[in-house]
Amino acid sequence: MAETANPRPEDEVVDIARDLIRIDTTNTGDNATAKGERAAAEYVAEKLAEVGLEPKIYESAPGRASVACRFPGADPSRGALLLHGHLDVVPAEASEWTVHPFGGEIKDGYLFGRGAVDMKDFDAMLLALVRDWKRSGKVPPRDLVLLFTADEEAGSDYGARFMVERHPEVFEGVTEAVGEVGGFSMTLPNDLRVYVVQTAEKGLDWLRLRATGRPGHGSMLHDDNAVTRLTRAVANIGQHDFPVEMTPTVRQFLESVSELTGVEFDPSNPDEAVAKLGPIARLVGATLRNTANPTRLNAGYKTNVIPSTAEAVIDCRSLPGRNDELEATLKELAGAGIDFEYEIRQPGYETSFDGALVDAMAEAIRLADPGARTVPYMLSGGTDAKAFATLGIRCFGFAPLKLPADLDFTALFHGIDERVPLSGLKFGVDAMDRFVSRS
Ligand SMILES: [Zn+2]
Repeated sequence: MAETANPRPEDEVVDIARDLIRIDTTNTGDNATAKGERAAAEYVAEKLAEVGLEPKIYESAPGRASVACRFPGADPSRGALLLHGHLDVVPAEASEWTVHPFGGEIKDGYLFGRGAVDMKDFDAMLLALVRDWKRSGKVPPRDLVLLFTADEEAGSDYGARFMVERHPEVFEGVTEAVGEVGGFSMTLPNDLRVYVVQTAEKGLDWLRLRATGRPGHGSMLHDDNAVTRLTRAVANIGQHDFPVEMTPTVRQFLESVSELTGVEFDPSNPDEAVAKLGPIARLVGATLRNTANPTRLNAGYKTNVIPSTAEAVIDCRSLPGRNDELEATLKELAGAGIDFEYEIRQPGYETSFDGALVDAMAEAIRLADPGARTVPYMLSGGTDAKAFATLGIRCFGFAPLKLPADLDFTALFHGIDERVPLSGLKFGVDAMDRFVSRS
């Protein structure tokens, strides 16, 4: 299809998001089977180069590609703003979907596909925005660093972490970063819309537990069984009730929502306040405490052989600054004779909800959706922001999306029939334009 001379960003955002969804960038967590990131990076680089920007592709391993480029701003003496999105997606099982997950189908006002909200939508907003600005000669107030990464969905080693460790020059002068997962609207019980800005995220602590014991014959008396010891530890951890620990971000979120809705918030019982929030309760509930969910077990090879080792993997998520405390609790719950080893250990992150950039977000939302407000929140999952935070960059999740009140948005992340409202994409470009203009 021929491109018109100057497409409008609110049209282009849909086309670009659709193109990106059609490039299958499934990240299996294994370099041998992860695919598409190179093709997606080349697509993004082409979109940037076409309007006169100078993107560069970085490969951390064959096919594992990220793209970066700098859009020079009006005031080079100010710190740069990093705008980032990941290009990879989690796997999708086509037979479970009502449309093909990589078809980029549009129906009922939604663009369907794996990555529609996580996060090819925001990638497309960034591309549509900077293409529009370059074409119309608009200059950002300060340098923008645009970064599209590989491997976010499997811990960022081949994307954001590779970039931070091996190409720190890309981040020269960057003081703040904006990416996922925030900026989407949620409708409060009194119909007021708030846009949640991510100012904190929990740590990722993937822990492997190993028990060793005496191997033996399954028919004999045996008092040193690795499987028994391991499963006792796993059960103790899985059943543990972690205490509520309110971080500044979560407290501010609950206080703001309470103020906006008039619903009393009892600080001694935040679980109750969160339960009244509707679908977002799942997301917020997990930010009140550390969590530890056993997810994998591995032991034995024959029914009548007692194995010498047994292993389990626990998906732990620690509150910012609480990862050591979490480990101590788990060691106590596991008891003696269990070795701990981290598959991934990335501490949580938290910044304050204040300053000029936060004001620019609030102003952009006020203008794009009059009457709406911004509130801070903590993400229970993880993003590339943790990698950028290690460079001392202040990180925010702000990918604006105005959503229908009844849409269970958080269920769409990694979900079946992942989709984004077309109106949300258009809203996002408009809000980002207002935000970046004020950044
Ligand atoms: Zn994501």
